[in-house]
Amino acid sequence: MRMACLAILCSTLALAQSPAEWVNPLGGTDSTYEFSKGNLYPSVSLPFAMNAWTPQTGEDPSGWTYQYGALRLRGLKLTHQPSPWINDYGCVSLMPMSGALAVKDSERGALFSHDREQAHPYQYRVKLLESGIWAELAPTPRGAIMRFSFPGPDKAYVVLDAFPAGKNSVAPSVQIEPGKRRIRVISRYHHGGVPSNFASHVLVEFDRDILECGVWDQAEGLKPGQELSSAHPGVWARFAADQGAVVQARIASSFISAEQAELNFQREVAGKSFEEIVGAARAAWDETLGRVRIEGGSAAQKEVFYSCLYRASLFPRCLDELDAQGRTVHYSPYSGRVEPGHLFTDNGFWDTFRAAFPLLTVLHPGLDGQIMEGIVHAYEESGWIPEWQSPGHRNCMIGTNSSAILADAWMKGIRGWDGAKALEAIAKGAHAEKAPMDSVGRLGSRFYDRLGYVPADAGINESAARTLEYAYDDFCNWKLARALGRPAEEVRAYGQRAFNYRQVFDPGTGFMRGRNRDGSWLTPFRPDSWGGVFTEGCAWHWTWCVFHDPAGLSKLLGGDTAMAEKLDAVFTTRPTSEFGYYGEMIHEITEMVAADMGQYAHGNQPIQHMIYLYDWVGQPWKTQYWARQVLDRMYKPGPGMYCGDEDNGQTSAWYVLSALGFYSVAPGTSQFALGSPLFQQATLQLENGRTLSIQARHQGAKNVYVRSVSLNGKPLARTWIDYRELMAGGQLVFEMSATPNEQRGTRPQDRPYSFSLDPDAP
Ligand code: CA
Repeated sequence: MRMACLAILCSTLALAQSPAEWVNPLGGTDSTYEFSKGNLYPSVSLPFAMNAWTPQTGEDPSGWTYQYGALRLRGLKLTHQPSPWINDYGCVSLMPMSGALAVKDSERGALFSHDREQAHPYQYRVKLLESGIWAELAPTPRGAIMRFSFPGPDKAYVVLDAFPAGKNSVAPSVQIEPGKRRIRVISRYHHGGVPSNFASHVLVEFDRDILECGVWDQAEGLKPGQELSSAHPGVWARFAADQGAVVQARIASSFISAEQAELNFQREVAGKSFEEIVGAARAAWDETLGRVRIEGGSAAQKEVFYSCLYRASLFPRCLDELDAQGRTVHYSPYSGRVEPGHLFTDNGFWDTFRAAFPLLTVLHPGLDGQIMEGIVHAYEESGWIPEWQSPGHRNCMIGTNSSAILADAWMKGIRGWDGAKALEAIAKGAHAEKAPMDSVGRLGSRFYDRLGYVPADAGINESAARTLEYAYDDFCNWKLARALGRPAEEVRAYGQRAFNYRQVFDPGTGFMRGRNRDGSWLTPFRPDSWGGVFTEGCAWHWTWCVFHDPAGLSKLLGGDTAMAEKLDAVFTTRPTSEFGYYGEMIHEITEMVAADMGQYAHGNQPIQHMIYLYDWVGQPWKTQYWARQVLDRMYKPGPGMYCGDEDNGQTSAWYVLSALGFYSVAPGTSQFALGSPLFQQATLQLENGRTLSIQARHQGAKNVYVRSVSLNGKPLARTWIDYRELMAGGQLVFEMSATPNEQRGTRPQDRPYSFSLDPDAP
């Protein structure tokens, strides 16, 4: 008890200076296939780093690598997984044990308890309860240090699992070096998105001699010898720790070569103590998280805020390494060669274009430019702009939403990448029906280009959703093409296609709807029918996916009052659903029902911007009310943090932006729609050296409404703020109130951008 009090006191003191202490990496880990509260693992890693590490409870090939409800721990694992649905690559796992040796993940599990577990972004500790071993871990960008404290008196082992070969890969291998301190691993583990030469070269060095060791194979068990190449190999090593001792393992990896792994090892972990690596990792997190300092709010809100900011600071993952000459190079999962420059991965742009990337443009504009450079490299190396990468192209989701990310960066003045080359790649993809997989290029473009929509009866799934995303993406292409001074005809073509959302709007039902080749509507129609012509949602969600032209959508819906009523109806309509397309109630539907907010499904991306659309129809107080409802009800401290898949920072970035008081409805416009800030004070330390102070005066649980706003002392009547205004720094002040101000921000000239009102639109 005394120890516990001391620990609380120490952590309270640390909280004062260290935002990293607020992060709960276990947030979102209480998830299953059927019900996601984030579908996350505790990522012990550096911000945006190449490698992450996680305690492993799941058995390969489960994508649920760590589940809060699991009883047994099976290792400390090198991971690159962006999502359980995509799974992992380039893994190894190390597991300490004592007494009897057990090598397979199904047999080596040890009981653990959350009472004897401490998870931070920069350090993880857990006690294995049967053996009494403490296993600890601290990360570097491409490596880690592990510390295993054996209490004795049994034989002390560490088992290394090199994971099985991925499809079409050569066999993975393990080798114990003659010096008996080092193990070299070539992991070939993957679930797609790699050429046949893909490898994760892992170097493990123990700080003491191995007493006794051997290799093992998943099918054949223990084998003699010091090296093994097989379908699923591993190593076991016994140390002179039988009477109690600490064994440390320093680890680094490379996707390039064993020599590069050695370089990474020397730079990041060689000669460094456990405490030094913990300290450096904590400092890196404090720098990243400290770019936003919040004041006010409860402990629970601070835990959620910094946990969300941490989740929004992990992806995309950097694949670059520095070669012996100090040049930035990367192994290309596209070309299979070592290529110059930056490359990033583990990201589905379908999710992250919405808020994760816009948040990066505010907090990490330099990194955002490097990521754009990497997207151009991916095009040069593969012939296609990626839409879902892990590590190379993955066939997942729809749309060409890379356009939103690229245009958003360019319109915000983020440079250091070849915009003309990016537009060349976009132009190729926009008309490419026969790309290597459906997720790159545009499936259905032969119809979209001719009819203005992807028909529902052409054998192309999710056709209305594709139409809506292509139309928005064409708006982004229009912005980028204009900014780059492309010929007027090319610019106009993109602009005209940006109105194609109108093609799938059915005035009869007042919803977006599947449309046949002959122009007729797909029947039968139910607005609560998931999938089919939509992606992971129904017409209640996809009708709002006109990010770039809410005024145009309002016109289709019968005007601002009618649109506001329809927005209201999302929350008041019972969460019924039809899901024959999926054959089961997919977890996103279950999560919508559990959320108890009608048809509003915050647990998935299509509708996440909807609350902010009230800003376009003269009722911004409803944006303010619902943004606070979602901030309070859809995010909770602890392992059940999220109301659905977190998705590579997207659902977290929604929280971070909304808690700051604004949200990016239409990336590519450089505007943020105003909502209702959550904290009395937020201070953004911007990369350009300026400081933005966001104050919410008279803030309180009931004072969710915005009475007035001022920017640098001048009244701000609008319901939006521009990126350049944020980046100029200064004072953004919200006066909060318990009653809505139904005058503020209601005039047409106060509303955010709409394409159909843009005098430059074709
Ligand atoms: Ca999702």
